[in-house]
Amino acid sequence: MNKDDDMISKYPGHNNDLSKESEVKGKGTLFIISGPSGVGKGTLCKAIIDLGNLSFSVSCTTRPPRAGEADGVDYRFMSLDEFNKKLEESMFLEYASVHGNMYGTLRSDVEDALKSGKDIILEIDVQGAFQVKSKMDCVSVFILPPSIGELENRLRGRGTDSDEKIRLRLKNAEYEITRSEEFDHRIVNDYLGRTVFDLKKIIIERRNLLRGE
Ligand code: ADP
Ligand code: 5GP
Repeated sequence: MNKDDDMISKYPGHNNDLSKESEVKGKGTLFIISGPSGVGKGTLCKAIIDLGNLSFSVSCTTRPPRAGEADGVDYRFMSLDEFNKKLEESMFLEYASVHGNMYGTLRSDVEDALKSGKDIILEIDVQGAFQVKSKMDCVSVFILPPSIGELENRLRGRGTDSDEKIRLRLKNAEYEITRSEEFDHRIVNDYLGRTVFDLKKIIIERRNLLRGE
């Protein structure tokens, strides 16, 4: 069991019942998950896969891959020229410059998932979130850290970013948090198991709403 699985299973409310309730095919929903770097968005996305009928958009980025990241899985890694070409061809549903790199969601990823009746999760920054919200029906969720100190611990604990990058990410976090009230839902990611439970609940409630329950 890895560290994150362990944190999830320690939450007393953790069980698989939620997954069973959600095994319903219908109209797909676009969910946006936003929040500061290091707050746990990637960890949460992995932990909700067992809900089923979910698709995860693989963003394009000009950021270099981190150790362990795979092209086409974590991101579509590309040069700035390649990114700009896609931009000129209007291939992005949204895009933004975040912490000094370009990131964008391919329109086709979202359309394909929704057409097939799957829900799709976009893990994107606040600028991108507002672009999508202005164009499409969606459910937006902002993940908050318990404190800025804890956010810094998580960024340092992840061990993927230099001191300089961590400082930039913490500085940007303060601005991002000021926009959190514009999201449909806000969840504090304190105990991972509980946050996973709350996030799954949001998805399931949306599915139930669309089924008329
Ligand atoms: P993001 O995708 O938002 O940048 P990550 O998912 O990479 O963040 O998480 C950053 C670090 O914080 C990882 O090392 C992860 O294991 C850890 N983490 C995530 N959620 C929690 C939590 N609730 N409590 C403690 N550590 C957490
Ligand atoms: P990281 O470099 O840590 O993977 O991501 C940095 C930030 O970029 C995070 O806030 C993440 O949500 C955001 N991000 C990732 N993909 C996209 C995207 O396609 N569009 C936008 N706007 N932001 C993204």
